Amino acid sequence: MSVESARRAESVGWQRELREQFPIITAHPELAYFDSAATSQKPRAVLDAVHAYLTTANANAGRGTYPWANRTTELVERTRQRVKEFLADPEPRRSAVHFTSGTTEGLRTVARDWLTRYLTDGDEILVPFADHRANLDPWLEAQRLLADRGIGIGVRALPYQTRSGDYDHRALDDVVGPRTRFVAATHVHHVYGGDMNVHRIRAAVGPDVPICLDAAQSVGHLPVSVAESALDVDFVVFSGHKALALPGTGAVWARNARGPVFEPGGWQGTPNTVGIASLEAALDWLGAVGTDRVARWTGALTARLTEGLRHLTSYEILGCQSSLGAGSALPAAQRRHGIVTFRHHGIPSDDLGFILFSYGFMVRADSLCQAGATAKDGSVRVSLHVYNTEAEIDRLLLVLASLD
Ligand code: PMP
Repeated sequence: MSVESARRAESVGWQRELREQFPIITAHPELAYFDSAATSQKPRAVLDAVHAYLTTANANAGRGTYPWANRTTELVERTRQRVKEFLADPEPRRSAVHFTSGTTEGLRTVARDWLTRYLTDGDEILVPFADHRANLDPWLEAQRLLADRGIGIGVRALPYQTRSGDYDHRALDDVVGPRTRFVAATHVHHVYGGDMNVHRIRAAVGPDVPICLDAAQSVGHLPVSVAESALDVDFVVFSGHKALALPGTGAVWARNARGPVFEPGGWQGTPNTVGIASLEAALDWLGAVGTDRVARWTGALTARLTEGLRHLTSYEILGCQSSLGAGSALPAAQRRHGIVTFRHHGIPSDDLGFILFSYGFMVRADSLCQAGATAKDGSVRVSLHVYNTEAEIDRLLLVLASLD
């Protein structure tokens, strides 16, 4: 056996063991779940943690003084620290973690409770007009809120490279000015699966401008480090439910080094304690498995799918084409993180979604909540996690080939 095939066999065995830990996946071998960018499936460790919490400690957090309440309060504080560790936070004493129901609520909290305290008349912010609409609407809402108070701010669009999905980093200098006070960007694009290279935004705006990162498609899928040598950003906002925790979970991590301290205002109410228990278990599980290994696995599956699709003439893969070309310096797997979105030249995407489900493939087939997209911009998205297999990709390619 060659070294290469021995390595492959080892990683297949590793993955099989992990896949077996997802009850909903193993219960349905006839189906293939390809919609992890929308939400992920949950391993048994997460389901067990939920059961254990509800049967041993269920109470409100930060209120009562009896043991169940204390245990719940400790769980919430411990999970805050867990999020910081998971993001390799170099200065956990200084940063803050706020739990939310997902990325949408997280970004809105940054916009409403932080950004509006920070900006003054004539300031400008840079925001993405072709990423997920969760990363556009809150900034426009903040602009309206400020306008109601007589504070006018400029909202400028992050430039994109045509058709590729990447930001146009060379054009950044044209939109960054002396009044640029804040940038909202995305880590991994939810349609194209590409890394949006936020370090180039940092280079363009300089060291003082806060950057808020929508990390919905990266946390839980690949290593995400806020060490300044890695992602020098000020907010990382993610959905726990896309990172193997329960629906209704998410968090905002705030560095608290640029601008005012992030302290969501007003009465917070009861936190989603069972969701937080699931998030702690999910991050523990991912930490033990290794997000680098998860990324290598989903990256290899992504490459297998894009390679197969490139040989079929009826399909167009959306996003950065140079990452797919045979002569590309980077293999496609390095550029696309577990997300492949495509169109068939002759079959409308919603029809293709139905056809694929008739073969057991659960994909997303619509305009994918992309800001500015309309129904006619529909596409089919295949999004992967560690439970997906090469056999599932090969089965999908066979069906796609039969429609070529
Ligand atoms: N941003 C991105 C990049 C996403 O992919 C998603 C979910 N599809 C969201 C934001 C919204 O996340 P949530 O539904 O958890 O609020």
